[in-house]
Amino acid sequence: MRHVVLGDEKAWLAEAPDPEPEGEWIVVKVHASPICGSDMHAYHAEGTHAGQGHEGTGEVVAVDAARHLKVGDRVLLNPASGCGRCRLCRSGAYIHCRNAPPGSGGHFAQYVRKQDWLCPKLPDDLNYDLGSLMGCALSPAYQALTRMGVNAFHTILITGLGPVGLGAVALAKFLGAEVIAVDLEPWRRDRARELGADETLDPAEADVLGLLRDRTDGEGVPRALDASGAAEAERLCLDALGALGKVAFIGENPGELPFSPSRDGIRRGIEIITAWHQNLNSFDDLVTFLRRFPRAEKLISHTFGFSQVDEAFATFASRRAAKVILHPWD
Ligand SMILES: [Zn+2]
Ligand SMILES: [Zn+2]
Repeated sequence: MRHVVLGDEKAWLAEAPDPEPEGEWIVVKVHASPICGSDMHAYHAEGTHAGQGHEGTGEVVAVDAARHLKVGDRVLLNPASGCGRCRLCRSGAYIHCRNAPPGSGGHFAQYVRKQDWLCPKLPDDLNYDLGSLMGCALSPAYQALTRMGVNAFHTILITGLGPVGLGAVALAKFLGAEVIAVDLEPWRRDRARELGADETLDPAEADVLGLLRDRTDGEGVPRALDASGAAEAERLCLDALGALGKVAFIGENPGELPFSPSRDGIRRGIEIITAWHQNLNSFDDLVTFLRRFPRAEKLISHTFGFSQVDEAFATFASRRAAKVILHPWD
């Protein structure tokens, strides 16, 4: 089979052996494999890096002793693996499993080997591209917004309008909130408005804090979410929050965020929430969302066959893109 190799700001194809089914491990023919912001570290890094890609959808083509799936089933691919038995796996939060077997290989490949219980069946009315949005484009934001109880009474500030932030815009609109979306890149702000954002702001030009305080009688917004992973944007979310507000951080920031537990936290009674990757329990609600919010298709800006894989990654790296989806058989 062919799979994608990344490095030195290039992407190209290489050959690898086809995976075999074994026990609960099934083989899925990958039909849609979205690029994630976290895959771009390997793209920008020196050297050659294989095994990237952790989202996607496909069709079961080989099984051994699978109990939940058969050849021909259309499925969602969840990232990583899990033991399937511990408290975390049973709750759906398998991504935090501490006894996970060795992983399944990256999803930027024509075939991938997965544990059958980590591949929920796609309903017939959901195509492979739309279904693949249930990965990072929707799942972290879904977890964050539902845990913050976002609803139609709320104004929410969303910072960072890459695919994760745009997914948060779409879901927050679906939940009825007023959405103020912030990003430096005009393309991304335009896309946020197409997805329903009520207002978009360029933080380099607008006084975002002043504007949000004006809108809320000086109180601050009740909800905020950062998907950029930039400390300045996370700080903006904290500063924009009113008393008893809730904020979610779902953009990876491997650095530090200046935070005073007393001044920023206790004296304002705020709550901080984080979420990472898919939770198995998000699946049914995200299917409902995709059925009832047709604008969600705007979360996909480009699709490329494997034959154009270098152009696909360059397009994503340009930041003028939402989800870029690879089609391994084109
Ligand atoms: Zn991802
Ligand atoms: Zn487990």
